[in-house]
Amino acid sequence: MESKKRAGVWSFLNSKCPRCGKGKVFSGSIFNYRTFADTLLECPKCKLSYEPEPGFFFGAMYWSYALIVGTIIVGSITLSLFDMFDYAIYAIPMFIIIMLPLAFRHSRLLMLYVVYPLMYTDKFFGKTESKIENNQKESDEEIEEVL
Ligand SMILES: [Zn+2]
Repeated sequence: MESKKRAGVWSFLNSKCPRCGKGKVFSGSIFNYRTFADTLLECPKCKLSYEPEPGFFFGAMYWSYALIVGTIIVGSITLSLFDMFDYAIYAIPMFIIIMLPLAFRHSRLLMLYVVYPLMYTDKFFGKTESKIENNQKESDEEIEEVL
């Protein structure tokens, strides 16, 4: 079985490369509203392309939606537990606006950490040489059988 090594939760929280866990994914600072969305094209350490096909990050909108709906649900429950649900109409949107860069970045990171290895397995893990050799042997055997 080929090794399917990838970075863990700590790398995800720190916005690091999904394969090596060392290279940065974003070039700008998260606290700067002009540069928080700047995404690098590839990992500076292991050269993994962060965009396997054009428009790959469109899927991040679904993750972003899920993160924001989750925030609304958790925020509503928390505020009602403390008997402050009347403030929810102001508090939750303000919290979402403040946390927007974090939601944006982590929805892109979810694309890289969850969707990328599932959809682009060869690009993510790299095609192993043993696998190619095995395929070559199998095709040679098939040719011998036919002859
Ligand atoms: Zn990397």
